[in-house]
Amino acid sequence: MSIVLIIGAGGVGNVVAKKCAREKDVFSDIMLASRTKSKCDAIANEIGGGRVKTAQVDADNVQELVGLIKEFKPDMVINVALPYQDLPIMDACLETGVHYLDTANYEPKDEAKFEYKWQWAYKEKFEKAGLMGLLGCGFDPGVTGIYTAYAAKHHFDELHYLDIVDCNAGDHGQAFATNFNPEINIREITQKGKYWENGQWKEIDPMSVHKPIDYPNIGPKESYLLYHEELESLTKNYPGIKRARFWMTFSPNYINHLQVLQNVGMTSIEPIKVKGVEIAPLEFLKAVLPEPSSLGENYTGETSIGCQIKGVKDGQPRTYYIWNNCKHQDAWSDVKGQGVSYTTGVPAMLGAKMMMTGKWMKPGVWNVEEMDPDPFLEEIGGYGLPWNEKINVELAFDDYD
Ligand code: NDP
Repeated sequence: MSIVLIIGAGGVGNVVAKKCAREKDVFSDIMLASRTKSKCDAIANEIGGGRVKTAQVDADNVQELVGLIKEFKPDMVINVALPYQDLPIMDACLETGVHYLDTANYEPKDEAKFEYKWQWAYKEKFEKAGLMGLLGCGFDPGVTGIYTAYAAKHHFDELHYLDIVDCNAGDHGQAFATNFNPEINIREITQKGKYWENGQWKEIDPMSVHKPIDYPNIGPKESYLLYHEELESLTKNYPGIKRARFWMTFSPNYINHLQVLQNVGMTSIEPIKVKGVEIAPLEFLKAVLPEPSSLGENYTGETSIGCQIKGVKDGQPRTYYIWNNCKHQDAWSDVKGQGVSYTTGVPAMLGAKMMMTGKWMKPGVWNVEEMDPDPFLEEIGGYGLPWNEKINVELAFDDYD
């Protein structure tokens, strides 16, 4: 039995809180804390029965976090606020002796640059304190790393080529909206793309490389090469990988809107002064766009995210594809959320369960692929994200050696 503090009451926080609340044998006491307490209360009321306590917290403020943690005394914190809060929450966990899990790596607010170096620097401190910090336990990063670890453990002697393919073929009925926090989402896709090849990073202009990829049960969708954070940890943890890339679909409508917003300066993170108040245009844009948590009810269609791998097994070339498809309407029926929040929140809950039941508990700061993938993949289907695999099939790419 364990006590968990969830920080962040957005689209993902809603899923994590509801999924944890059902695991009475694992999480005996739950608190949901966020900047806006009314959002925590709304989620807790839907869960009912006083199962989830709520609190207001500014997660940028370490001492506020420390105060809350000392009062509630959790065994671990699940951080589903924003990447900016990763380091203050990790500091508070160290100060109070509490384990940590998140779904997105730290990035400084004034620079759209996400790297693991800031969080990996905590490894020794966590180890010495006997605490575990698990990084990036959503879907991507998260399940994609666990799929890769599973492939490496069961299907390959060497991994050579990894393509992570992420499709959202859903329709939320809005002219323009992002499926997770708009500020983080737009920062991610407007920066330069990057992929790993032959021991180095190759940079490309934003959204300049794209091709149609055929997704299971969906069909071909134009997919764009982006930099995504799990590429950094996977190429470090699997040094034999010759090339690793990440592809994500965007509809022509999404791209058009984004281009216009970029052209008029609305995606800039440089603060400007309006009526004497400093604000970054992107922060303003975030405030006028629909919240990710509001998209669920009328969302139709499905997501498909997986790993396409080429490598060697027993001296023979092998290809492998492992993936999950998730219907937005199924996410809505389960937790009143949309598919992207769901595919992030379910792995976060399950990662926390793995830690609290001792299956994944080891002091230090880790990425998910450093854990044993088996117990996680044995259970994730039962929580709503079943996976499929195919061995020696034709993959989406023909540009291998
Ligand atoms: P939302 O914007 O819906 O929710 C973010 C929540 O964090 C909001 O409730 C917000 O409060 C709260 N928050 C922001 N700043 C603070 C602060 N200083 N103190 C306390 N709470 C704060 O985003 P999502 O739920 O869609 O995303 C949550 C996280 O999940 C993000 O880090 C995102 O990058 C990550 N993610 C990871 C994915 C993966 O597969 N690995 C995929 C999708 C998302 P308020 O309501 O007041 O604004």
